[in-house]
Amino acid sequence: MNEYPAVKNYISGSFTNGTEKTLEVISPLNGSIISTVPLSTAKELDAAVIAARAAFPSWSAMPIKERVQVFYRYKSLLEKHMNELSEMVHFENGKTLDESKAEVEKSIELTEFACSLPQLISGELLEVSKGVECRVEHKPLGVVASIAPFNFPNMVPHWTIPNAIALGNCMILKPSEQVPISSNRIAELLKEAGLPDGVFNIVNGDREIVEAICDHPGIEAVSFVGSTKVAKIVYKRATSNLKRCLALGGAKNHLIVLPDAHPDMTATNVTASMSGCAGQRCMAASAMVAVGQIDVIIGKICEEAKKIVPGKNLGSVISKEAKERIERYITEAEKAGAKVLVDGRNYKVEGHENGFYVGPTVIDFVTPEMAIAKEEVFGPVLAIIRAKDLDEAIAIENSSSYGNAASVFTQSGGMARQVMERASAGMIGVNVGVPVPREPFSFGGWNDSKFGVCDITGKSSIEFWTKLKKTTVKWNPEGKTNWMS
Ligand code: NAD
Repeated sequence: MNEYPAVKNYISGSFTNGTEKTLEVISPLNGSIISTVPLSTAKELDAAVIAARAAFPSWSAMPIKERVQVFYRYKSLLEKHMNELSEMVHFENGKTLDESKAEVEKSIELTEFACSLPQLISGELLEVSKGVECRVEHKPLGVVASIAPFNFPNMVPHWTIPNAIALGNCMILKPSEQVPISSNRIAELLKEAGLPDGVFNIVNGDREIVEAICDHPGIEAVSFVGSTKVAKIVYKRATSNLKRCLALGGAKNHLIVLPDAHPDMTATNVTASMSGCAGQRCMAASAMVAVGQIDVIIGKICEEAKKIVPGKNLGSVISKEAKERIERYITEAEKAGAKVLVDGRNYKVEGHENGFYVGPTVIDFVTPEMAIAKEEVFGPVLAIIRAKDLDEAIAIENSSSYGNAASVFTQSGGMARQVMERASAGMIGVNVGVPVPREPFSFGGWNDSKFGVCDITGKSSIEFWTKLKKTTVKWNPEGKTNWMS
């Protein structure tokens, strides 16, 4: 098992200890300690805000075409260090190496998008009356903060870093204290790519530092990705301090499977969606609404699930607590009358006995009022809820308090269209198990899965990371007094 140097804060281009208080970073692959992370206080945050504010005037004054040159170089560095970065994600998060590589590939795509911002951000100009023109420009906000969750240590920071910084802001990143290692390497690579000191900073820690970010008067905007419980806390606290805030929360994604769905394609897609990254994706299939008689498809899903082997093509979940929580949901559903078709509880991986593994689990005859049907489980678990027709299936989907993703599996365009129109979620899939929109389309859910306007990636993020300057200009070269119409 790899060990990594102690994680540090990163302020004004230098790694600093900052605080004595630290937390152990545990690899969920085998429960071993692989590093430590500082639990910073408001004092360290202050230093980062001072550094970022000092860097802002010259960074924001640079033309955007020049600023994105850093990200062209950075993208090449991500490609060059792909194996090392993927390995880091694997060890600190527990997902498989292939999944870790896919995560870094997504970071590269996000960086590519930022390189295209000069093409998308050009303003507007119009002669509104004779000799008078109005123009609109996108201006950066100043110092902004980005707070990240554990499930994508490399990708989620890239949802915000390239766009916010290329648009002229200076950033303070607060990584998840469970997976802080990747972010230190991101800082080194940004520096190598030529990002000036102070433009990107990292302050590590837990709840205390998040609260300090929400309260700090020197921070203009806060983006957050994590659970709904904390998203609500952050959104309320940041906005009550008059900051702009975008807070993405948890999810409970429904896949509606109709009897005419292609059996093999549906089974492989549904199983991959519920088990990929050990079910710890905010876009994972969590509940499958089975419409009518689809036992053949359910049988094939079970066959597919049994091919997934923890420690080989299924990673670990993040912690002992997460493993216990997931297994509790399964046991409670079983006690309430659901039928466990494939059981991933009490899984041990040989040679990794102290790792936190849950095998793929399929549970049938879950009813909408069970906790497993309503709450976010965040593990490789598929809860199957039976519905008599599409209307009932859509009603079940609509009753969820969340709204990240919803998908339908069918060969009928008309049925698919109904789900596209009536599902209450921000990202919809048709015969797609994980309907993540790719760049330049934006990522963001509805309901309790997102608080605030704008999405976090793609074109929509431009509105979040910038403010509009409207200028009215009167040209009167001949000095006439009555020239204006
Ligand atoms: P989390 O909410 O526990 O933690 C997220 C961040 O908030 C971390 O940096 C953590 O240090 C901080 N934090 C934790 N408790 C806090 C508190 N009480 N006050 C202030 N800050 C606090 O989330 P997690 O467990 O790291 O990540 C998993 C969750 O993230 C899941 O719910 C998942 O659905 C969600 N998620 C959502 C999206 C999305 O796009 N909607 C994407 C990825 C993950």
